[in-house]
Amino acid sequence: MRRLVIVSNRVGDPDCAVSGGLAVCIFDGLRERGGMWFGWNGESVASEDEIGASCRRCDNVILVTMPLTEGDYQEFYLGFCNGALWPVHHYRLDLARFTQENSEAYRRVNERFAATLAPLLKPDDLVWVHDYHLIPLGADLRARGVRNRLGFFLHIPFPPPDVLVAMPEHEWLMNALARYDVIGFQTKTDQANFCRFACEHMGGEMARDDVLRVAGNSVLAAVFPAGINVDSFAAMATSPEAERRIQWLHRRGEARVNIIGVDRLDYTKGLPDRLRSFKRLLELYPQNCKAATLMQIAPPTREEVKAYADIRHELEALSGEINGQFGDFDWTPVRYVHRNVPRDTLAALFRGSQIGLVTPLRDGMNLVAKEYIAAQDETNPGVLVLSRFAGAAEDLDEALIVNPYDADDVAHAMQRAIEMPREERVARHAALLGRIRQHDAGNWMGGFLRALDAPARPLAA
Ligand code: ADP
Repeated sequence: MRRLVIVSNRVGDPDCAVSGGLAVCIFDGLRERGGMWFGWNGESVASEDEIGASCRRCDNVILVTMPLTEGDYQEFYLGFCNGALWPVHHYRLDLARFTQENSEAYRRVNERFAATLAPLLKPDDLVWVHDYHLIPLGADLRARGVRNRLGFFLHIPFPPPDVLVAMPEHEWLMNALARYDVIGFQTKTDQANFCRFACEHMGGEMARDDVLRVAGNSVLAAVFPAGINVDSFAAMATSPEAERRIQWLHRRGEARVNIIGVDRLDYTKGLPDRLRSFKRLLELYPQNCKAATLMQIAPPTREEVKAYADIRHELEALSGEINGQFGDFDWTPVRYVHRNVPRDTLAALFRGSQIGLVTPLRDGMNLVAKEYIAAQDETNPGVLVLSRFAGAAEDLDEALIVNPYDADDVAHAMQRAIEMPREERVARHAALLGRIRQHDAGNWMGGFLRALDAPARPLAA
């Protein structure tokens, strides 16, 4: 079995149980095959003289990490990755900021990563690069003579060509992306957007549904929907500790209907729209007053970027407004928690809530939707209300699919969930559970690696 080399902006911490499901899944895969994980260590240093890679072994995995300079952190990470690429890929050109310094920093950091990684590679290694921070890394490795199989997975959406071309760097970036052997996308929409761009703007042509001939390369561009480890999440939701938490949630007696939302406080997650939908639920169906509570858990993220500070203020104002208008001494309609919560607590809260409200305006996949399903009691499950703009909606047909921009639509769906007979809930949930098992974390990783490991006969997902 060939050695696996994973490259991602942040290297997962094998000692940290809080890491997301995908990080754990990648680490397990690395441990099984033996391999290396290369990336940023999360620290920034004053100058380039202090940048040196450090190595640590964990079982048969070598973790190689390096810091960024303070300038890289500002210009590469906050500036280009999260101030330009993130909004463009989430169709938010209005929030994107492009500067020459930031795009130079993006090129510089990727080149530095390539220069450090190239000498560490063995000829037979499979190299799998993750996400939008590292799009040009493959091309930079090729420029250094690396001939290994190179794969890339985009965890976030791929925008329509008309949106992408607004980014000054798009030509260079897409030429670099096309240098990988395998490019993985979360959904058919993302894959189709990329292929359309390659054909319409780069002179590419489709040799097969998922094989693209572009810029002298043959690229497998396929869909590999990311998933969770269903059993381990379900186990967290059914532990004795989880039972105690759920009983506490229900005993408070304040709400007969618990609605839960869990998202990083990101403008892509549609949190203000979600709160407005909850407000419409109370207006359109006043029987929910004193009966329904929305618990929104939204930990801080990327607070140095202005758009993130703005969304926080908007959310705080809205939750205060709704609580002021509707709340009473014995009922708080919106409970807003602005911090990280241990994963087992989340699992218990999901299980104890009759509605999982997942309404992003645009999202690569959205693993919270899958975690909510995994956490439910199969004999008396809650209902997932899911945005049509989450990647997960491509697959999760039995959720109540909504348009998050339409507050009334979401309010009606919540009411439908509240009134849904148990039999229908059980049937919908069983179907959803089957789907998240079919596309779990193990299958995601296995599918991508099979494609990367099989140059002669590339496999579709
Ligand atoms: P994104 O990657 O954009 O943040 P996902 O829904 O795909 O969105 O993944 C988010 C992950 O972070 C999930 O595993 C979720 O459980 C976790 N998460 C979200 N909010 C919190 C929180 N407050 N505390 C702990 N984990 C959280």
